[in-house]
Amino acid sequence: MKQIFTIRYHLLILFMTVLTSSAFAQSAIHFEVSFTEPQAHYADVQMQISGNNQEVLEVKMPVWAPGSYLVREFAKNVEAFSATDAKGNQLGFQKTTKNTWRIQAAKKDKITINYRVYGFEISVRTSFIDASHAFLSPTGIFMYPAGQVQKSSTVTIKPFQGWNQVSTGLEPVMGKAFTYFASNFDVLYDSPIEVGTQDVFEFTAAGVRHEVAMYGGGNYDKERLKADMAKIVEETTAVFGENPNKHYVFIVHNYANGGGGLEHLNSTVLGASRNGYSNPNTYEGFLSLVAHEYFHLWNVKRMRPIALGPFNYDEENYTTNLWIAEGYTAYYDNLFVRRSGFTSPDRYLDILSSGMSLVANQPGSLVQSASEASFDAWIKQYRPNENSRNSSISYYDKGAIIAMLMDLELLKATGGKKGLDDVMKAVYDEYYKKLGRGYTDAEFKAMAEKIAGKSFDQFYKDYVDGVKAPDYTQYLSYAGYTISDDFAQRNESYLGATTVVRDGRILVTSVLRDSPAWKFGINVNDEIKSVDGQKLDPTPRELDRLIASKPIGSTVQVDIIRDGLAKNLQVTLSRNPAVKYRIVSVENPSAEQLAVRKKWLKL
Ligand SMILES: [Zn+2]
Repeated sequence: MKQIFTIRYHLLILFMTVLTSSAFAQSAIHFEVSFTEPQAHYADVQMQISGNNQEVLEVKMPVWAPGSYLVREFAKNVEAFSATDAKGNQLGFQKTTKNTWRIQAAKKDKITINYRVYGFEISVRTSFIDASHAFLSPTGIFMYPAGQVQKSSTVTIKPFQGWNQVSTGLEPVMGKAFTYFASNFDVLYDSPIEVGTQDVFEFTAAGVRHEVAMYGGGNYDKERLKADMAKIVEETTAVFGENPNKHYVFIVHNYANGGGGLEHLNSTVLGASRNGYSNPNTYEGFLSLVAHEYFHLWNVKRMRPIALGPFNYDEENYTTNLWIAEGYTAYYDNLFVRRSGFTSPDRYLDILSSGMSLVANQPGSLVQSASEASFDAWIKQYRPNENSRNSSISYYDKGAIIAMLMDLELLKATGGKKGLDDVMKAVYDEYYKKLGRGYTDAEFKAMAEKIAGKSFDQFYKDYVDGVKAPDYTQYLSYAGYTISDDFAQRNESYLGATTVVRDGRILVTSVLRDSPAWKFGINVNDEIKSVDGQKLDPTPRELDRLIASKPIGSTVQVDIIRDGLAKNLQVTLSRNPAVKYRIVSVENPSAEQLAVRKKWLKL
C-alpha cells in the first residue's frame, strides 16, 4: 500500500548510511514478510534465492536467539513450507533434522521458498504477531542457507493494512519502501523488527542518533525520556571513549506488567510497564534496563567471550564467561543510573546490599560457581525447577557481586585512580578493536591483573571458579564502608518452606536446603493443613507467622496432605538464618578510603 510508505520516508533518508543499489543487486537472498492473518498470529515469509547452482539446497532455522542462552526450537513455529522455481513449479523437499529443510533445487538459478511463522509468545526474544502489531525476532523468522551465514540479504516488510511504521536497526535500502540490508546473517539475526503503529521519537546523544519506538502506549513523558536516556547513553559511552554506532534503536514493548530486555548490535528490545513511568521506582528500573541493554552494545555484542561469535545457530554455544557478559552488565546498569544522577549514593548502596543479601540467602551460591552457572545456562538458568534455589546461582546476581569486588580491588590497588571501567575499555580495545576476536577467560583475568598490578589468582579461585562467600567487610572497607545485618538480632523460628495459597489450600512450592522443612521431610506440593493442631487460614504468610511465634528449638507437629494422603511430621524448628545487609560508612574514613569512595560512586 503506497500511502503508508510515504509517512516514514523522510526518516528513512535521515537514517540512511548511503547504500548504493549495487549492494542490493549483489545480494542473492531476499526476504519478504507480509501479514495476511495477523489476528491469528501469523507472519508470511517469502525467501527468494537467486544464483543457486546446487543440486540440493538446505535451509535452516536457528534454534536459539543470541543473548538468551536456551535452545528455543524456533522451527516449531514454522508451517506450510514450500519451494518453487522461477516458473512456479513446485520443488520437492524433505525435512532432514528438526530445523533443516532439504530442497531438490536441481541447480535452478532462482528458488522461492514460502513458509508461515506462528508468533504468540510475548517476550523480548520471541516473535509476537496480532492485529495491533508484529514484533519479529529474527532468529525465529528468517531461515539461512546451510553453511552460508556470511551471505548478505535484503528484507522487505509489507505492513498489514493500517500499519505505518517499521522500526529496526537494519540499514534501509534507498528508494525501496520498508526494505533493509543485512551484510550477513549475524547482522540480520541481531536486528529485531517492530511493525505497526508505534509511537516513534528520537534524540541524539554521544553523537549518535537514537530512535525510540514505543508499542502499547503508556504514561511516558517523551521529553523527559529523551533527556534521561541521553544521559545514560553519555555515561555509558564515556567508559569506552567512543560509540560504535551511527544510529541505535530502542524498541519498547509496553504491557500491563512488562519487563526484560534483549541486547543487539545497534538496537535493543525492552519490556516495560505501560503505566509505570510515573512511579519513581518503576521509572528507575526502566532507566536501569536502558543502561543494561545499552552497555551490552560493548559488553557481549563487541567485547565477547571467545565462544560467543561466530555463533553456531544450530546448537548450544558454551562459555564460562556469562558472569562477565551478564553479571558485569547487571553491576553497571544501576551504576550508570547512579552516575547519571538519577539515584543518590545511599540509594545505590541500598541496591547493592539487596543484591548481596539475595546471593547470601540463596543456598545454591555455595554449590554452584559463577563460571559453572555460565556454562550450564542452557540447562539451568533458563530451565529452573523447584530445587534451583538450592543448587544454582544466577550468573547475573553473582556476576554483579564479582564486578563490585573486582572494581573495589582495582580502586584500592591503584589508590582510586583506576577501576573496572579501565579493564572493560582495555579488553574492548585489545580484543575487539585490535585483534577482532573474543577474549578468553585467561585474557580477561590478565587484563584485570595488569591494571591492578596484582594477581587475581586467589580472587578467581574464591569467587569465580569457587563458591566462597564474599568477604564484604574487607572489600567495602577499601571505600570506607562496612556491612551491617538488619536481621542479626532477629531471633525467630522458621520452617524453610515457601508456600502459595491456591484454591483455598496452602501448598509448598520450595524447600530451602538445610532448613527444618528440608531436614524433616516436607516436600514440594505438600498441602499444609495445621501446625500443632492449629488449623491454618489459607492466607499468605499465615504459616510463617505461626511458625515464627514458636520457640527456636521446639518441635512442632505439621499435618500435611501428600498425594491425597494425610501425614503428620515432627519438625524441630531452628533460627531463621536469612540476612538483610546494609552498607554503612565506617567512622572517620581515611583519605585513602575516601579517594576510592569518590571514584567508585562518582561523588
Ligand atoms: Zn543482559
